[in-house]
Amino acid sequence: MRSVDVADLAAGVRAGSRQHVARAITLLESSRPEHRELAGELLTDLADLTGRSVRVGVSGVPGAGKSTFINALGTRLVEQGQKVAVVAVDPSSRRTGGSILGDRTRMAELTASDAAFVRPSPSGRHLGGVARATRESMLVLEAAGHDVVIVETVGVGQNEVAVSEMVDTFLLLTLARAGDQLQGIKRGILELADVIAVNKADGDGEAAARVAARELSGAMRLMMPGPAARRPPVLTCSALTGAGLDEVWAAVLEHRDHLRTQGSLEARRARQQQDWMWAMVDAHLQDAVRDTPSVRAARAEVERAVREGELSAVDGTARLLRLFADDLRDAPDGPPGS
Ligand code: GDP
Repeated sequence: MRSVDVADLAAGVRAGSRQHVARAITLLESSRPEHRELAGELLTDLADLTGRSVRVGVSGVPGAGKSTFINALGTRLVEQGQKVAVVAVDPSSRRTGGSILGDRTRMAELTASDAAFVRPSPSGRHLGGVARATRESMLVLEAAGHDVVIVETVGVGQNEVAVSEMVDTFLLLTLARAGDQLQGIKRGILELADVIAVNKADGDGEAAARVAARELSGAMRLMMPGPAARRPPVLTCSALTGAGLDEVWAAVLEHRDHLRTQGSLEARRARQQQDWMWAMVDAHLQDAVRDTPSVRAARAEVERAVREGELSAVDGTARLLRLFADDLRDAPDGPPGS
């Protein structure tokens, strides 16, 4: 990355320049300390413009129709005059050039639109780092005037949790399957969902999709007894024909309005900020612990000793933390980040 002029970058983002947005996101995706520092300055500069978008997570197993759905829904929203951004969280993908999710070729129509910005998942092995970059990208996209930010993720468990922690409404796309509907969907993921849509309700699949939605709805009733209003609605749609898409979007907005009128949209976002802060503290501490000179020097040996049973994990932990503490005391600048 060439030298970064944060003020120029921020001004360009505020003006809605795609090029500046793309460069800003590239900066946010870098984990180099000097880039992290500039990223912090950029986000502080843009803070007054963030938080205004409708933040929606879209999850589902591969083949559920996520990209078709986002392409169709996003195109509709653009036609209604909204600016739409799509970002993604897909740490499992290590292909060079980034992830399949949010891939521009999968959302060709939306990508071609001037009012839409589609960005693939940053590559990276750790969910934490990928989620951080995506969350921060969302802030930049909001500052650039996007009304709706869609965060796409593959349904594998942890990803959904990370995405649900950065959006207002979490939409689960699912499919009608033969047999037990719940087999393919983990209970924990159903508990995260704010809206559920059974996709591919078209042609020969329509009847099966309706049956699946009814069964899922019944299962949710058992799982979450109490007032129906608290349970996520289960709808059917076809990303291919567009049938039901308006209803799904209406359910997303309804969920968000419901949160807003109860004051819990602010509460949700406030809680997300707090959790996020601690997640970053944890991540920084982990990096810091692994990175001090004494720990770095002793690490391989302590790991070996623990693997071979010469040292218990408890004693290994104590030894590493003692080395870390010694390094902190001896560091000329004090603890990292101070
Ligand atoms: P993703 O992996 O979840 O992003 O799924 P894709 O959007 O790539 O869709 C997987 C396949 O399902 C593609 O062949 C799509 O054309 C097809 N598909 C997606 N949505 C629908 C739908 O609503 N109806 C039907 N019949 N096919 C769909």
